[in-house]
Amino acid sequence: MKKKMTALTMAIMMAASLSACGGSSTADTTAAPTEATTAANNSEADSTEADAETKASDNAGSGKVYKIATDTTFAPFEFENDKGEMVGIDLDLLKAISKDQGFTYELVVAGFSAATTGLEAGEYDAVIAGMSITDERKEKYDFSDPYYDSGVGMAVNADSDIASYDDLNGKTVAAKIGTEGCAFAESIADQYGFTIVQFEDSSSMYQDVLAGNSVACFEDYPVLGYEISRGTAFKMPLEMEHGNSYGFAVLKGQNTELLEMFNAGLKNMKDSGKYDEILDTYISK
Ligand code: GLN
Repeated sequence: MKKKMTALTMAIMMAASLSACGGSSTADTTAAPTEATTAANNSEADSTEADAETKASDNAGSGKVYKIATDTTFAPFEFENDKGEMVGIDLDLLKAISKDQGFTYELVVAGFSAATTGLEAGEYDAVIAGMSITDERKEKYDFSDPYYDSGVGMAVNADSDIASYDDLNGKTVAAKIGTEGCAFAESIADQYGFTIVQFEDSSSMYQDVLAGNSVACFEDYPVLGYEISRGTAFKMPLEMEHGNSYGFAVLKGQNTELLEMFNAGLKNMKDSGKYDEILDTYISK
């Protein structure tokens, strides 16, 4: 119950304040409380899974159950499958690394900006959410070794005439709060004369484009590619823009042992071929 209140309160606070891509605002004020409820429910559901994991590796580690927050919809890194289970590269990797290193965790499906806000508030021990390792973030967080190279892309509806940033002049584009995609959109918004509307989660952002409210959205290129490959009627008219690699994050100077275990486990997964196996499950080459 406490968890539910905290998530809800946080979402309302976020809805009340308005700023840029920084990660503490939303233009989609009505969606935020609903999303928070979903996140709280998900986190409860995931506790059951975490209990099982706790048992699996009870003998190892210090007995601490780390709270690790993730995004809601960021396929193929984390998303809900047909059976209602949270799966994806990040989550499979985390599970494999935790087994290898003998630590236990509870996964909290919080949403991206709620995950980082919660990490800063001390609610979570770590975040794994396709989180880009940026210089700005390095001032607040300690990141693991990079585990996936990424970049930013622009998606438009499959039948859209938009073929360049120039075509965005006078239009509205969608982005997700606190993300590298949002920061990129913001960096070129004045130059190309478009307005940005921000969303808490990727699915609401995609819906806004599909509904024709926004003419494009900015999101990580591999995530947009995956979305298109599973049937979303988008296309990407432009090449990938530079972006940063993904890392597992803890608050600066905290949970150092967890970060070290993540790095050691990641190396073991790469050496054993498990890392490639996980990637191959989601991304066809
Ligand atoms: N890679 C992007 C970032 O870190 C988006 C992450 C996400 O939306 N889960 O900003």
